[in-house]
Amino acid sequence: MEKCFQEQLKRLQTDYIDYYLMHMLTDVETWDKLKDLGILEWLEDKKKSGAIRQVGFSYHGNSDMFCKLIDAYDWDFTQIQYNYMDENSQAGRKGLHYAAAKGIPVVIMEPLRGGRLVNKLPSDAVKIFEEYPVKRTPVQWALRWLWNQPEVTCVLSGMNSVEMVEDNVETASTVEIGELKEPEEQMLRHVVKAINAKMKVGCTGCAYCMPCPKGVDIPGTFAAYNRYYTDGRYTAWKEYIMCTALRKTSSAASNCIECGACEKHCPQQIAIREELKHAKKRLENPIYKIARRFIQWFKMY
Ligand code: SF4
Ligand code: SF4
Repeated sequence: MEKCFQEQLKRLQTDYIDYYLMHMLTDVETWDKLKDLGILEWLEDKKKSGAIRQVGFSYHGNSDMFCKLIDAYDWDFTQIQYNYMDENSQAGRKGLHYAAAKGIPVVIMEPLRGGRLVNKLPSDAVKIFEEYPVKRTPVQWALRWLWNQPEVTCVLSGMNSVEMVEDNVETASTVEIGELKEPEEQMLRHVVKAINAKMKVGCTGCAYCMPCPKGVDIPGTFAAYNRYYTDGRYTAWKEYIMCTALRKTSSAASNCIECGACEKHCPQQIAIREELKHAKKRLENPIYKIARRFIQWFKMY
C-alpha cells in the first residue's frame, strides 16, 4: 500500500491527496481482509500526517452489500454508479439514501452509463424526449435527474470536447434541487420503459429474491445479462466480472443448484432458474472463466 501510495504521489506531483478511494470495494469480506493486512492503521497514519484528507470507497455491487460496507468504516465519502436507469440496480436510490442519511457525501459516477444514455438510446426513447414539450437533450435530462436529488453531492461526467464541458456547466449552473415534478419524472419513467423493452429479463433489481443460499447475485447477474443486449457484450462481461468474480466467494449464476427458493419471492414472476441458465451461457464464456481463475489466484497472494 505504501509503495503504491508513494508512486501515486510522485505521478500526481503532490504530497497529499484530498479524496482517496478504496477502488471498487466489492464486499465486507474483502474489506475485512484489507483490515487483516493493516489498512486501518495505514489509513489512520496517513490521515494523521495529512497525506490523505478524505477516505472513501467506490462500488459496483448491489444495494444490500453497499449498505453493509457503509456501516463497516467511518467513511468520509463514497462513489457509486447511479443514473435514471440504475435507480433500482447497483447501490441504487436505496444505497444513495442510506449513505446520505448517515451524513456521508455521495459522488456519482456513470451518470450517462458510459454515454449509452446518449448515443445508444432506442428510437422509442429518443422519440419520447423529442415529443416532450420541454426541449432538452438526453444528457441534460440525465444530469438534471441527478442534481434534482439533494442526496447527490457531486456528479462525475467524462467529457471529450469543450462544447460538452460548456453544456454540462450550463446545466449545473441552472439546475435546482427538487425542480423535476411528476410529469418530468413520468416522462423519464417512459424512457426507462422504452429502454427496458430491449432487455431480455424484466428484473427491476428489487432483490426480494435474495439472499440465495448458494450466494448467487441474482439481480446483479440479470443486470449484466440485460446489458449484453442494451450496451454490448464487453460492458456486460465487465459488469458480470465485477459483481460475481471480484468477491471473496463467487456469486456467479453457475453456483445455482435450482432449489427454486428465489422464485417464490419474485414480484415479477421471473423464471429465475431458467433465466440464470441463459445468462450463464451468455456471460460465463472461456474469457470469464480465465479471468475468474486469475482473480482467485491473485486474491490468494
Ligand atoms: S434457484 Fe438458484 S438462484 Fe434461486 S435460490 Fe436456489 S440456488 Fe439460488
Ligand atoms: S425478485 Fe425478481 S425482479 Fe426482484 S431482483 Fe429478484 S429476479 Fe429481479
